[in-house]
Amino acid sequence: MLPSRRMLEELYQEIILDHYRRPRNRGKAVPADLAYKDSNPLCGDEIEVTATLVDGKIKDIKFDGHGCSICLASSSIMTGKLVGKTLAEALNYIENFQKMMRGDIPFGGKEMGDLKALEGVLKFPVRVKCATLAWHTAHRGITAKL
Ligand code: ZN
Repeated sequence: MLPSRRMLEELYQEIILDHYRRPRNRGKAVPADLAYKDSNPLCGDEIEVTATLVDGKIKDIKFDGHGCSICLASSSIMTGKLVGKTLAEALNYIENFQKMMRGDIPFGGKEMGDLKALEGVLKFPVRVKCATLAWHTAHRGITAKL
């Protein structure tokens, strides 16, 4: 069954489209103290996350690669959320988001902002991997540094 128009409208909310059309922090962080690349073969999304670390904090974080609108918008939103955090804080934030995307905890809480737009993706289980690819990639990259 095709998703209804209303569901699609919810999925491709304005915020998601805005991040897709004008991605924030796209490119490579220099120096790339942290770099990790991963893909979602189900959709063809491929994302590399790079970050510059200063005093244990993420001074700069960028993503590069290609993917669908959900994947790129989520990557763009993620970079804005993780910049300025310590690696431990970033891991915590990522894990919290992953729990929301698995439906383990409700969507919401502090510091949501643009991230709230991704809640609509939960209605499309096949797209959840698109929304979480960059986060999973950043998580792997950070874990490798700890
Ligand atoms: Zn995708």
